[in-house]
Amino acid sequence: MSSVNSTIQRLVLSRTPESTCGTDLAKAPWAFDAGAPAYGPGASRFDEAPAATPRQGEIPAEYREASDEELFARILAAKETLGERVVVLGHFYQRDEVVRFADFVGDSFQLANAALTRREAEYIVFCGVHFMAETADVLSRDGQAVILPNLAAGCSMADMADESSVEECWEQLEELYGTEPDAEGRVPVIPVTYMNCSAALKAFVGRHGGIVCTSSNAATVLEWAFQRGQRVLFFPDQHLGRNTAKAMGIPLEQMPMWTPRKALGGNTAETLETARVILWHGFCSVHKRFTVAQIDKARAEHPGVRVIVHPECPMPVVDAADAAGSTDFIQKAIAAATEPSTFAIGTEINMVNRLAAQYPQHTIFCLDPVICPCSTMYRIHPGYLAWVLEELVAGRVVNRITVDEGVAADARTALERMLAARP
Ligand code: SF4
Repeated sequence: MSSVNSTIQRLVLSRTPESTCGTDLAKAPWAFDAGAPAYGPGASRFDEAPAATPRQGEIPAEYREASDEELFARILAAKETLGERVVVLGHFYQRDEVVRFADFVGDSFQLANAALTRREAEYIVFCGVHFMAETADVLSRDGQAVILPNLAAGCSMADMADESSVEECWEQLEELYGTEPDAEGRVPVIPVTYMNCSAALKAFVGRHGGIVCTSSNAATVLEWAFQRGQRVLFFPDQHLGRNTAKAMGIPLEQMPMWTPRKALGGNTAETLETARVILWHGFCSVHKRFTVAQIDKARAEHPGVRVIVHPECPMPVVDAADAAGSTDFIQKAIAAATEPSTFAIGTEINMVNRLAAQYPQHTIFCLDPVICPCSTMYRIHPGYLAWVLEELVAGRVVNRITVDEGVAADARTALERMLAARP
């Protein structure tokens, strides 16, 4: 199967650059590591990376100049030498040239849990993005080191909610609502964060009686929150929050948007008084590319097509689809199809291509006709993987991601509440 990277190379060479959202994608990611903090080519290319975004130093030329075949051989040899001492995790959205070396492939929480089954491993090499490596560190045992092969692999959505703007929002909400519970013992507001955020924000919700959710359990988590609070502050993904709350019957007018750094988030006090879910102004640049027009086109060209999208997509797209669910849901829906079927999928292209190869009896394609992968998953390349693994073989731990123990303890509280929440 050709990878996204190879596909883009081919498209550029065949002079159809409009088929991708950036011909820069054909370059290796280290071409962008030396510049100012930026997400690089791909879906987040127009999002502004915070000035404090971690930078990746230059790796030795031998890794940047090696052929794919040489890198693959070196990665395999290093993994063999390290044996049980290392576990390599690969996110669904990661390029195939990296995923092929993963011991586990999954979404961020599945991978953090997979690492828990390898307690003997000294090193967890996380081929995903920064917040995922942080979560793995929070859940890891003492003495395990979590390594992110490229420090510039962040997440534009996670960066849309930083600790200071959430603290500022919280202060304003406390001033507006007070802190006293109502007659049923429900506090004025419960903070809920999507897994796609920094460890500092998971700790924030842990400290303030809140909880973490994933795209698989967001409805269960919101139910949990409404048992304890009159309303919810949901960050950073407005779309997951809106799609989930709407499916629970909450009217849109009771879901105001909070725009950070604005007084009352750009709302009136009256609007916030009647709010049930306050949505943070964050989004995933990959999933916001999907449109209702793409769904209409897929239905016109493929009668009988089943359209399945991720709940990070905008509400009209989720409403127009046949089904919406997490990466795990999408994968299971395809696996469950017993007859050859056609699926149009609204999620990241690497995963869609992999599903298409895995289930050749079906026709599976990405709703977005323009190849535009996640900019930050793209930053992991076999050259970086070879480098971190060979450094480990040499006894050096590079690119370690650590979460301060005080922060980790509060973040664990929020994650444990999520694990204990029941539908
Ligand atoms: S797909 Fe979206 S939410 Fe996931 S890592 Fe990329 S930018 Fe972040």
